[in-house]
Amino acid sequence: MIDRDIVLSCLLYRREYQLEKNIKIYDSTLRDGAQAEGISFSVEDKIKIVKALDELGVSYIEAGNPGSNPKDLEFFERIKSIELNNTKLTAFGSTRRRNIKVQDDANVKSLLLANSPVVAIFGKSWDFHVTDIINTTLEENLNMIKDTLAFFKEKGKEVVYDAEHFFDGYKANPEYAMKTLKTAIDGGADSLVLCDTNGGCMPNEIYEITKLVVDKYKTEVGIHCHNDCGMAVANSVMAVFAGAKQVQGTYIGFGERCGNANLSTVIGNLQVKNDYECINEENLELITDIARKVAEIANVSLDDKEPYVGRAAFTHKGGMHIDGVNKASKSFEHINPEIVGNERRFLMSEVAGRSTILKKIQKVAPDVKKDSPETIQIMDRLKELEHEGYQFEGAESTFELIIRKNLGKYKPFFKLENFKTIGEKPNDNGELTAFAMVKVKVDDKIKMAAAEGDGPVNALDKALRQALEVFYPELKKVHLTDYKVRVLDTKEATAAKVRVLISSTDGKHEWSTVGVSTDIINASLIALIDSIEVKLLRELTKKIKAYI
Ligand SMILES: [Zn+2]
Repeated sequence: MIDRDIVLSCLLYRREYQLEKNIKIYDSTLRDGAQAEGISFSVEDKIKIVKALDELGVSYIEAGNPGSNPKDLEFFERIKSIELNNTKLTAFGSTRRRNIKVQDDANVKSLLLANSPVVAIFGKSWDFHVTDIINTTLEENLNMIKDTLAFFKEKGKEVVYDAEHFFDGYKANPEYAMKTLKTAIDGGADSLVLCDTNGGCMPNEIYEITKLVVDKYKTEVGIHCHNDCGMAVANSVMAVFAGAKQVQGTYIGFGERCGNANLSTVIGNLQVKNDYECINEENLELITDIARKVAEIANVSLDDKEPYVGRAAFTHKGGMHIDGVNKASKSFEHINPEIVGNERRFLMSEVAGRSTILKKIQKVAPDVKKDSPETIQIMDRLKELEHEGYQFEGAESTFELIIRKNLGKYKPFFKLENFKTIGEKPNDNGELTAFAMVKVKVDDKIKMAAAEGDGPVNALDKALRQALEVFYPELKKVHLTDYKVRVLDTKEATAAKVRVLISSTDGKHEWSTVGVSTDIINASLIALIDSIEVKLLRELTKKIKAYI
């Protein structure tokens, strides 16, 4: 008979162990990430990224400061009506300015406009920054920290304190750096985030200094690393080993200069390799898809060699490697790619992992099995399209149409017989105007329409919907919310291809479609036509369901 006390203490130990292994992921793609060269998010982009990261299950999303620009203000206004299931939205700002009352500081007040449950406040930890950069006294800096945190605690906020340049500050003047943390605790900080703002620290330093803080204070400690030495992920992991419970970074690593800690890699390293829990276990297989989605929305190429989530992360080329992996995957893979939703690829034989794609197919056709001829046919078609430059992360609706077309479950709602665009020349006000004419056929009926737009694609979109609205009035509510063009790298000497990604909405739902061509108008048309088809398909499905 097992002793009851032993069982109880085992259970208690397990609970404590699990609590200890819980790590909060704090994503700053929309704030620190937006400071990267070449990155600019529209309000739509920001909302899409919030939804994607919420689905993944990160604990916090830092989304900017409503007072800093009208775009952020609009974002915080619009996000209020969107229900988030896993994540807490965070507004970000600095401690009050020197020598004024906290309640008189416009920047501090503007943070309240965000109406977010959490605010992150950054303050100075490095004495040199206090005296030489913001030109105040060491004492006033402490007051600035305390006043600002206390202000937000009084407003009922959860307060994350970002100790800017903490590690450099600690190395220069440990006593003062620690004093800033103590002051933050006195001000009511819920967590103390130690920042390697300049990204110049080594993993051993991060471990030692983080451990000192963890041992000294009871308040939760977090880590925020930049990648200037290529150490941001390693440093973040070391901080967790030293007892940090919160990891800040950006989801695919972009940020100021060399970027931030790449959270998709951090999650892989902590959760898959070290048994920590950063997100729900069942969401681990989403990390690849979400990485590709974030890249697509941000309009950057995700590095093929990105650990865990890159296209080449589990790609084998050498004959011996392929042979080895076929015998036992662990021979040349550190983990099974399916754990993180990635797939194994063999470059020589082009045998892609079927199960990842099968899952997507089954969302449309649940009865299809792994070895069904339909699966093989769809996989072949997808491979062909990917080879042409298609990417379906961020364009699930096009993916759905391809599957339906291949399953014979699809009849187009219309045919574009002909189109023409003219006059892509700026008018006197410098606005780009263009005209488009289209001829569409629905059953046996022909309809022509013409429209003007601020660019050929906009004109085409208008003309197309104008012609089709006669047959399908439900299209009146549809409009484009986003349009992105990416020039694809091509090894051939011929003209480069472009990939166009468009998002559409009918006010209730939003969907995205993709088109690839050597011609930008043609690529846009493919995506536009698919977008309209998706809407009509949804309406038809709704009608059928109502009829049944
Ligand atoms: Zn930063």
